[in-house]
Amino acid sequence: MSELDDIYQEIVLEHSRKPRNFRKIDEADQVQEGYNPLCGDQYTIYISMDGDTVSDISFQGTGCAISKASASMMTEEVIGKTKNQATRIFEAFRSMITKDNENVKEDLGDIEVLQGVSEYPTRIKCATLSWHAMHAAVEDQEGDISTEKA
Ligand code: ZN
Repeated sequence: MSELDDIYQEIVLEHSRKPRNFRKIDEADQVQEGYNPLCGDQYTIYISMDGDTVSDISFQGTGCAISKASASMMTEEVIGKTKNQATRIFEAFRSMITKDNENVKEDLGDIEVLQGVSEYPTRIKCATLSWHAMHAAVEDQEGDISTEKA
């Protein structure tokens, strides 16, 4: 089975062709850039907060199918969640993809189709880029996100 067959499942392709929340939020509370120079994935994440809740989240940019599908699924999952819930989902997603913490369990729904990415180290950064940017934004971290920054 090729890498493409394994990772590019139908749902991933569908999200990459028709990404959800692929737009700009003009009055966003948080705007976060994310860049993965190894693949060329480059996205901007926009977040509107209502108190502690992510009332709206969107993204724009360009990149490979995995990075775009992952960002699309991320926005669907995080919208309407509190800061803490968003951080929990981020941790669960990261541990699913990097397999660095088997103890973090969360029902990630459709996002679990991206689990196959964990077998392809060069693709992990594509899948996690928008998630790191989202996490930095909800946590009010300063500076752009790059997968190649220590
Ligand atoms: Zn990529």
